[in-house]
Amino acid sequence: MMIDSREAKISAMRVILRCNELSKITCKEIGITRIYLSKEHLLANKLVGKWMQEAGMLVWQDAVGNICGRYDSYFKNAPAIMLGSHLDTVKNAGKYDGILGVLTAIELVYWFNKKNIRFQLAIEVIGFSDEEGTRFGITLLGSRGITGTWNEKWLSYTDNDGITMHQAMSDFGLKSNKINDASRNIKDIVAYIELHIEQGPCLEKENLPLAVVTTINGTRRFNCKFIGEAGHAGTVPMRYRRDALVACAEWIIFIESNTRENHPQLVSTVGYIDCDPGVINVIPGVVNCSLDIRGPQDDMLESFASILLSEAKMIATRRNMIFNYKEYYRTYETLCDIALQKILSSSIETVQGRSFFLSSGAGHDAIAIAERWPVGMLFIRNYRGISHNPKESVNLEDIILSLQAYSDAICKIVKKF
Ligand SMILES: [Zn+2]
Repeated sequence: MMIDSREAKISAMRVILRCNELSKITCKEIGITRIYLSKEHLLANKLVGKWMQEAGMLVWQDAVGNICGRYDSYFKNAPAIMLGSHLDTVKNAGKYDGILGVLTAIELVYWFNKKNIRFQLAIEVIGFSDEEGTRFGITLLGSRGITGTWNEKWLSYTDNDGITMHQAMSDFGLKSNKINDASRNIKDIVAYIELHIEQGPCLEKENLPLAVVTTINGTRRFNCKFIGEAGHAGTVPMRYRRDALVACAEWIIFIESNTRENHPQLVSTVGYIDCDPGVINVIPGVVNCSLDIRGPQDDMLESFASILLSEAKMIATRRNMIFNYKEYYRTYETLCDIALQKILSSSIETVQGRSFFLSSGAGHDAIAIAERWPVGMLFIRNYRGISHNPKESVNLEDIILSLQAYSDAICKIVKKF
């Protein structure tokens, strides 16, 4: 059972209008910036809560500022399937990242309610309050409220203006000693589905509107250092130099070529370099740099990291230098539930002729939710894969198909789970 194309078109047009309307709730005139516990967060919750209510849901704001709606089952107190994404943004964001997932879910409920369709499961829609971590540097605060995995020490973290999270919660009208009230009993939710823009170019390259997400990639980040010797740029012959920047450059080239040739599922980035002393007439003595690697399988990432780091050591040794590193950040792969992937895949195949699978290079609310419940994700194509940018754009036709596939999948999932 799926929304027919005529109704899906009306819904998709409403989704775009609402994305535009939400984009006006911003604390900056250029682009969109809506951060956790801000007055814009409150306004967005009010507006989205109103839309949830109009779609036929019972609405509340939970103890960490998520906006939640429930469309009841024909059974009293039935467990729910949860649909949604986030309503917060990065600085100078686009209109669709996160928001599209919340608004499409509301459209599904609107349609079920209009057709008077109820299921053995309730449907809950959630607009997560903080996924991006823009204000306090901690991501997934909204979804961690739901899973009950908040860390109390986060309350003392401050934003750029020195306001603690504790203070911000109180200014917003929330009580920091009530955070646990947001957490949900494991039996109350059976699964979580999130529709999200791809934020990458793969669907566009495939000429397809939709994909099923297989995993959300794990990440590892390292601070690295090449230690050579600074010296006079005019007097030290090339053969006697221990130039740390040249060693680092050789390593970066190796990282790129090794990743491209041997590890097509992985990505690697050296995004930061600091060269000491960093002046025109001195041979670079020390280079600090970063390494960020991501991929869909933790064991693959583990062996990849050791290949790259041992190559750096070899380069340093050959050049009579020292290389050292420290890992400072790690997230693990998040697997999307196989049964949910199958259902999403068959619904996508129905609307676009063939299915397509992608891993996600970006983090999502589903990472936190997957610690407790099975998760499934659909990706929708966005223009050139541009995201976290005001140029973010999604086709009306793609939203129409996404609503059809999404509604079809939910009807199947509620029967199976
Ligand atoms: Zn997002």
